[in-house]
Amino acid sequence: ATTITEYDTIAAISTPPGEGAISIVRLSGENAVQTAETLFKGKDLTKVASHTINYGHILDPDDGQVVDEVMVSVLRAPKTYTREDMVEINCHGGIVPTNRILQLLLGQGARLAEPGEFTKRAFLNGRVDLTQAESVMDLIRAKTDRAMQVAVDQLDGDLRRLITNLRQEILEVLAQVEVNIDYPEYDTDQMTTQMLKEKAEMVLAKVDELLQTASQGKVLREGLATAIVGRPNVGKSSLLNHMLHEDKAIVTDVAGTTRDVLEEYVNVRGVPLKLIDTAGIRDTEDKVEKIGVARSRKAITQADLILLVLDASQPLTPEDLELLDATADKQRIVVLNKQDLPVRMELGDRVDASQIVRTSITTGAGVAALDTKIADLFNDGIENSQTTLMVSNSRQIGLLRQAKVSLQAVLDGIQAGMPIDLVQIDMTAAWDKLGEITGDAAPDELITQLFSQFCLGK
Ligand code: GDP
Ligand code: ZN
Repeated sequence: ATTITEYDTIAAISTPPGEGAISIVRLSGENAVQTAETLFKGKDLTKVASHTINYGHILDPDDGQVVDEVMVSVLRAPKTYTREDMVEINCHGGIVPTNRILQLLLGQGARLAEPGEFTKRAFLNGRVDLTQAESVMDLIRAKTDRAMQVAVDQLDGDLRRLITNLRQEILEVLAQVEVNIDYPEYDTDQMTTQMLKEKAEMVLAKVDELLQTASQGKVLREGLATAIVGRPNVGKSSLLNHMLHEDKAIVTDVAGTTRDVLEEYVNVRGVPLKLIDTAGIRDTEDKVEKIGVARSRKAITQADLILLVLDASQPLTPEDLELLDATADKQRIVVLNKQDLPVRMELGDRVDASQIVRTSITTGAGVAALDTKIADLFNDGIENSQTTLMVSNSRQIGLLRQAKVSLQAVLDGIQAGMPIDLVQIDMTAAWDKLGEITGDAAPDELITQLFSQFCLGK
C-alpha cells in the first residue's frame, strides 16, 4: 500500500506550445488551490466543491489589472491525476497571457514543474505504476492507432496486473521454501525443489510470451526501419511519394525533444515504417547516380525491411544483381516496377516468389498489393501470439530478459542439484527484476531519469 506524500506545489503549461484557442496552466500540490485563489477574481476557490469549473478572471496582484478571462477547475485529492490537489486554469487569451499567468503563479510560491513531474507524482503517490507512466509517454508519441491501443491497454494497467501476479506467485513459493527450511525434521527437500521448479517454469513461460511480443511492440513504438533501394530511375522517388501521400505521412514532432535528423514515418495499414535515408532519394537524379549503390549498401545494413525496386522493363543490370545479392539475407520485398511497359526482366530463381510484388507506380497497379505485403509481414507474428498484451518499451524488455536469465538459472540450478538456498537467490533476483518493471523495486535515479523524458506539463 502506498501512502500519499506531500510535495511542494508545481505549475506548468500543459497544452502544446503555439497558438491554440485554449491553453491550460496546471497546478498540483498541497497549496494548489490556495495559490490559484490569490490571483483569481470570482468565487472563492478554496470554498468551491471539488471537480467544479469556475468562471472568473486572473488579476495581476501588483496592479489589479485583468490578465485573462479564465475557467478554473478545482480538483481535490485524491481523485486527481497526481492524487494531490490540482487546479487547471483554462486561459483564453493565447500564449502571452498564458505565460503571464504561469509567471504570476510562480511569483505566488509555486515551482515550475520539471518535464514529466505531474506523472511522476501520480507514480510516487501510487496512482500508476511505471508501465502505466511509460504508456503516457508512448501515447504522446504514438504513430499509429495500433501503437496508441497498446499504450492505452498499458495505461489501463494490463501489464501491471500480469507482472504483479507473477511476482505474487514467486513470492508464495519463496515463502513456502522458507517454511520448509524452518522445519528440517520433515524431509521436504524434494517437495520444495519440485515446487520451485514448477513455479519457475510457469513464470518463465509467461515471460517468454511477453518477450515474443517485444519485436512487434518495438516496431509499433519505433517504426519498422525501412530502406527503399534500387539503381537510378527505377521508380524509388515515385514509390516514396506514393507512401508519403494518401494520408499516410505521420507527424513525428515529439514535444520537448529536438532531433538532428528529420525522421520520416509512413503508416502502412497500421504498421509504422521509419524510412531510412530517404533524403538520398529526393536528391537530384545525378546526385543519386553518383551516390548510387554505396549509399544503398549503408541503408541496407541499417534496415529491418528493404524495398528493393527494380525496373522490370529493362533486363537485369550488374547493379541490380549487386543489390539483389546485398539484400538476399534481409527481410525484403522486391518491387518489380514499370509493369505498364513491356516486361524485359528475367529474375530466374534469384528471388522467392513470396518476396515479389509487381507494380506500376505511375498507373497505381499493384501498389495496394505492396501495402498488403508489408502489413502481412508484420502481422504474421502477432496472430500467433496468445496475449493481446504487448511489450514495446526497451526498458521493460531489458528487465524481462534479465528476469528470464534468473529463472533459467533457477531451473539450471535445480537440474544440477544445487542447494535450495542458492536456487532461492536466483528466484529472488527474478522477483526483483519483475518488480523494477512496475517500479515496485526501481532505484530512485532510474525513476528520475525516466520521468525526465516526458514533456513539460505532463
Ligand atoms: P528513382 O531514380 O529510382 O527515384 O526513380 P523515379 O521515381 O525518379 O522515376 C524515374 C522515372 O521513371 C520517372 O520519369 C518516373 O515517372 C518513371 N516511373 C516511375 N515509376 C514508373 C512506372 O511504374 N511506369 C513507368 N512507365 N514509369 C515509371
Ligand atoms: Zn528519383
